[in-house]
Amino acid sequence: MKDHTTCVVTPKVKADGFDPLGVAVHRGSTIVFRTAEDYANRAKRGMDGYSYGLYGTPTTRTLERKLTQLEQGARTFLTPSSQSSNAIAMQAFLSAGDKILIADSCYPPVRDFAVNDLRRQGVSVDFYDPSSPFDLERRIDDVTRMVWCESPGSTTMEVQDLPRIAEIAHRVGALVGCDNTWATPLNYKPLGYGADIVTEALTKYVAGHSDVLMGSITVSTEALAGPVRGVLGRYGIGVSPDDAALVLRGMETLPVRLAYAFESAMELATIFQEHPLVDRVLFPALPGCVGHELWKRDFLGASGVFSVVFTPNASEHVPAALDQLQIFAIGASWGGTRSLVAPMQVRANRSATEWKDEDLLLRVSAGLEAREDLRADVGRLLAAVEEKSRHARVSMSALGGMQYTLNNKQGE
Ligand SMILES: *Cc1c(COP(=O)(O)O)cnc(C)c1O
Repeated sequence: MKDHTTCVVTPKVKADGFDPLGVAVHRGSTIVFRTAEDYANRAKRGMDGYSYGLYGTPTTRTLERKLTQLEQGARTFLTPSSQSSNAIAMQAFLSAGDKILIADSCYPPVRDFAVNDLRRQGVSVDFYDPSSPFDLERRIDDVTRMVWCESPGSTTMEVQDLPRIAEIAHRVGALVGCDNTWATPLNYKPLGYGADIVTEALTKYVAGHSDVLMGSITVSTEALAGPVRGVLGRYGIGVSPDDAALVLRGMETLPVRLAYAFESAMELATIFQEHPLVDRVLFPALPGCVGHELWKRDFLGASGVFSVVFTPNASEHVPAALDQLQIFAIGASWGGTRSLVAPMQVRANRSATEWKDEDLLLRVSAGLEAREDLRADVGRLLAAVEEKSRHARVSMSALGGMQYTLNNKQGE
């Protein structure tokens, strides 16, 4: 063999006896076949076989297998983000003339996808009150092909009665999809409560280090796998094995990270809840929070993400007060090692229900830092909100703000 050729041809080296605990990163677009007949028959290899890098490698299949097991489903597919896993889970099963009913509390980009793209394709899109199976029952009809859930809802944390919802959906032959990002497959198993499809933002807790984007779609039966696999293949959507390896590494520590983040979140949520400028804390694991009973009935645990509703006179001062934080970072996404906060606006993302609380919520994701440092940081934030609110009140009353005080008495 000439040197040029040696450079190109990969020799087979002995691999048996090399048994690492980690998963190898198998990169490959081309898969080679031993015979022309093998190549001609490659489509017959099925979903577990290998025919082209886009459709899966041993690395991505390993991650899919683990997720299938945790979700107690039939098959899992990986996508480059969870926004794409949600969009594809819908796209695979909806045609012109079909209707989808989406929880009003869904991840906002899901609303955008449904309103812009599904409607353009002739799918009828409507939203329902995530907390009211009666509202769902009122809106569902014979052309409804899918009911979309997200439990608890993005930012506002409504826990859904999935068994009731599934019963209503299945009565008209509709599929139930559920975005399970907040709980992760460790703390909630939607397929066991009637969902047919479950999606996860692996980007968040499963990968766990804020350095990779990935989503998953797990289906409850083999019959549902074909349509998802078809759309992924035709749109040419697959994930990098390097990214899959990062998610696999993250998953190994998922249970301990989640448990730690949950304990921290409980402590911080309690500090917020006891502060006079906080109206309520939205965290299903907190006794007294709306949805707590359903959470206790169906979930195995909670993660470290919750939202804070401030009183009307404090709310507007929250964004500026965030600049006082020293440990928490300000940013979107969550579920990483670093604690995060993000001011979120709710009202613009509602159509089936009315958001009656303050429009601005503070979303908090507890990370893995020492709790003492996090408590001190929350103290700094609350002191800054207090300071700014007091200052505003004083300057308003200096302007003859009798009227202001009357209007802003908020039932403390
Ligand atoms: C973050 C998030 C997503 C999107 O995840 P990406 O991987 O960032 O696209 C979807 N659903 C929920 C509930 C989320 O919080």
